[in-house]
Amino acid sequence: MTAPVRTQDSPETRGSEELIRAEEPVLAHNYHPLPVVVSRAEGTWVEDVEGRRYLDMLAGYSALNFGHRHPALIEAAHRQLDRLTLTSRAFHNDRLAEFAERLAALTGMDMVLPMNTGAEAVESGVKVARKWAYDVKGVPADRATIVVAADNFHGRTTTIVSFSTDETARQGFGPFTPGFRIVPYNDLAALEAAVDETTAAVLIEPIQGEAGVIIPDDGYLAGVRELTRRKGCLFVADEIQSGLGRTGSTLAVEHESVVPDVVLLGKALGGGIVPVSAVVGRREVLGVLHPGEHGSTFGGNPLAAAVGTAVVELLETGDFQRRATELGAILRDGLTGLVGKGVVGFRSRGLWAGVDIDPALGTGREISERLMREGILAKDTHGSTIRLAPPLTITAEELEGALGSLEKVLR
Ligand SMILES: *Cc1c(COP(=O)(O)O)cnc(C)c1O
Repeated sequence: MTAPVRTQDSPETRGSEELIRAEEPVLAHNYHPLPVVVSRAEGTWVEDVEGRRYLDMLAGYSALNFGHRHPALIEAAHRQLDRLTLTSRAFHNDRLAEFAERLAALTGMDMVLPMNTGAEAVESGVKVARKWAYDVKGVPADRATIVVAADNFHGRTTTIVSFSTDETARQGFGPFTPGFRIVPYNDLAALEAAVDETTAAVLIEPIQGEAGVIIPDDGYLAGVRELTRRKGCLFVADEIQSGLGRTGSTLAVEHESVVPDVVLLGKALGGGIVPVSAVVGRREVLGVLHPGEHGSTFGGNPLAAAVGTAVVELLETGDFQRRATELGAILRDGLTGLVGKGVVGFRSRGLWAGVDIDPALGTGREISERLMREGILAKDTHGSTIRLAPPLTITAEELEGALGSLEKVLR
């Protein structure tokens, strides 16, 4: 038997079903993907190994805010690949200064701590907040607490699942890291009661993404800001999914004109090319770190910095934020028209929506599978909720097409 011919253009010769079957015995089952095998993508469209095309209405959970293979990002990556990819932080590299300067300017913060994945940014935020509590606030050693919200999603490390309320994410992974207090989201009175002299920080998502795009009441984020300032603790906003244009502004906290002490970024910061995350914050907070106290081999590598800088450059124009606002109005109108026609309710801000489907019509998974057969890729979050988060490069026609497909699937 001769081996199948592999070319650089088509390194795999097996079809979708065969590839899905091949994964089964060798790939850990920590995901249950939709049965589509993507082999290439451009802009808002992906193509499977059989050449079927799909509109991407998930955009890598917002890691693809600028679409697949945005030309400016691909060019920045190619240019950097040909010059320098990794130095480690043992040495300086010539791309990191500009990345940090421009990211700090974009977010209105003083300092940047570059990391790789979102979970690392959260871990780093937790460490920095604790160190600030001991070094600046004067909390007794090992007594610092961090107040978080129920139904949060901040990532998958052992410390992060320690303050998750999702039993599936926790079961079997203890013992857990102490020092966290969980209060209901969108409840200022509960937050007030939980914050005390040991509190280093309040850590929340300005909009809870994985929970189903849960948008707090007007005034909640401003209330968190006022409360944390008055009580003398930090406000850490996890904008890993909500940030970088998704909601119509660079950061979701801008909708309430709120400036946190620390903002966590990830996902779209890597332009859909490499994992890039960052903790950005005030000098008083990030300034607590000294050499050797925290680090990452890959954090701030020149390839990540080049791509991250190109991402910041796209956001500096304001075009993507504007698109998210304008197209978000189309998304909202379309979904409003589907309420009572299979949609029981929805929440949206910018190009981001959590759509609750009538459970009688199927689970979120079943609706996602039906959408897939209509050429739309989306993903359920919990139960019968579908999350829609297309690339911010989507056109009005494409968005209307997706809404039409949703209407068809619900009929
Ligand atoms: C995705 C996400 C994370 C974790 O990011 P990873 O890159 O998957 O580790 C953390 N916080 C929020 C709000 C997220 O959406």
